[in-house]
Amino acid sequence: MRWTTCCDAGSMKTDTAARTTAATADRQGGTGQEATLKGQGVSPGIVIGPAYVLDRGCVSVPETLVPKAAVTAEIGRLGDAVDRAARQVEKLKDKAAALPAEAAEEVSLLLDAHLAILSGSRLIRGARARIEGDRLSAPWAVQQEVGQIVQQFAAIDDPYIASRADDIREVGNRVIRNLVDVKFKAFSAVASGSVVLADEITPADTALMDPTRIAGFASAVGGAQGHTAIMARSLGLPAVLGPSGLTTVVRTGETVILDGTAGAVVVRPEPATLARYRQRRAALAVEQRELALVRTLPAVTVDGTRIGLHANLELPRDVAAAMAAGAEGVGLLRTEFLYMNRSDLPDEDEQTLAFEQVVTALGGRPATIRTLDVGADKIASALKPRFADVTNPALGLRAIRLQLQDLDLLRTQLAAILRAGAIGPVRILLPMIASVSEVDSARTERDRVAADLIRRGVRIADPLPPLGAMIEIPGAALIADRLARACDFLAIGTNDLVMYTLAVDRGDEQVAHLYDPWHPAVRRLIDLTVEGAAQAGIPVSVCGEIAGDPAFTEMLLAAGVRELSMSPGRLPAVKRQLRGLRTGSRKAS
Ligand code: PEP
Ligand code: MG
Repeated sequence: MRWTTCCDAGSMKTDTAARTTAATADRQGGTGQEATLKGQGVSPGIVIGPAYVLDRGCVSVPETLVPKAAVTAEIGRLGDAVDRAARQVEKLKDKAAALPAEAAEEVSLLLDAHLAILSGSRLIRGARARIEGDRLSAPWAVQQEVGQIVQQFAAIDDPYIASRADDIREVGNRVIRNLVDVKFKAFSAVASGSVVLADEITPADTALMDPTRIAGFASAVGGAQGHTAIMARSLGLPAVLGPSGLTTVVRTGETVILDGTAGAVVVRPEPATLARYRQRRAALAVEQRELALVRTLPAVTVDGTRIGLHANLELPRDVAAAMAAGAEGVGLLRTEFLYMNRSDLPDEDEQTLAFEQVVTALGGRPATIRTLDVGADKIASALKPRFADVTNPALGLRAIRLQLQDLDLLRTQLAAILRAGAIGPVRILLPMIASVSEVDSARTERDRVAADLIRRGVRIADPLPPLGAMIEIPGAALIADRLARACDFLAIGTNDLVMYTLAVDRGDEQVAHLYDPWHPAVRRLIDLTVEGAAQAGIPVSVCGEIAGDPAFTEMLLAAGVRELSMSPGRLPAVKRQLRGLRTGSRKAS
């Protein structure tokens, strides 16, 4: 099969960002003008460096024909990709409204032109005809149609027409990217010390970021509790989500300041601004050094209650940072990142090795390994077909629901956890549990897999690892007493618990102001869970992001929580906070 890229169609490319920047810069009186783009600071720290404006790049387009019987479905696929592209452009338009008036007008006109192309223009009609008539696959059909239109335009030597050709190419590439599973380039072209700026950075993208090369990042979409933000905190990368105009008013190579604490990206800073931020950066470094001093102190409240402080890991290699920060164990290992940025599934041996790496590094401290939680904003390419045509992914086939439907996925992980448990203590944590029967089914599988491994003479954990449930669905919290009787431990996932309780998407910056972990309904559900665990005599921890935010420590201790798990970088601040608090009369669970 021949492969070409979506950028192969035509040759007059100048991208929208550069054109818009040039136009905007002209109106603002030159590219040297300082501009501040406001967003949500989701991972603290200040970095100064050259911008790297992310271009999703050229997508490989397979030149395949579709069987006659599949033509209608292929046209449907094209329609879906076009609809999605229109939604993406609408969203960019909403965001552009927050730009300074002239830039907003410029970007908005451009995006209106893109929307017009997406609504039944020659590009879309032509691509449809190529699928119908020539039976080309949808991406190939779009690519061919873009190529033909651009070629015809090239015959007319006029800058306005050249611009329209660019629009068609850009819209075509957007549709193709929606049709083809884009393998993200591993930030290999990013100059060391760069600040990455993009329209969107997915959790899978962040898993490819090397914090020794990338200084920080900002993305136009995303909320503070989404997995992109969580990953940023875990990597210790300052990050800002939500600012408009990131990819339109900044050019690669221009100096930017990224303030992940206050939530701002300053473009082309004036010398006085640079000096101010350098000062603030130095002050933050002093604070960090002071915080590091609590590392060796015990996590004990003023009235002598010991609090277990554990680490959340996104990638097994983060275990070193957890140990360095003084974690007493791993309270949550998110295994889904092992499934991202690849087209196959990790097998039992590969996962065993990854888990053994964590267990070995912990040297006898417990490792809580959560089974696969893909779905919603975490997508694994190899499982993508399972999520096709889902209208509401956060309520769909996510986490344990997928694993109990596709038992091989669950069994592979259970086997790997049981094998890693032979060399040190592990616990099995089940995500998105809604009912006791799900826990029972998983326990049956654990026992079956264990019996099978023993029969094959494989060394496994003995006794079998404890089995716990994440409490992240309000219904689960409401039956926490029953779940507690079916489990060996509970872990409260407040990120999702807040989302599902308040019906606010945790990853959507547009409703970020409604995402409120302080909401009394959330507190009631935490109380119910802690009580349920106490009645059953099992431990309960909190491993959502509020566990790592000192502002919530007092509330969680008052609710009776005695175990917290968080990004390693948050441990010192939480420990310092709890060492100044009293737990009151409430008993530890
Ligand atoms: C949570 O929901 O609070 C949680 C810890 O799980 P995740 O953030 O991975 O969904
Ligand atoms: Mg969750």
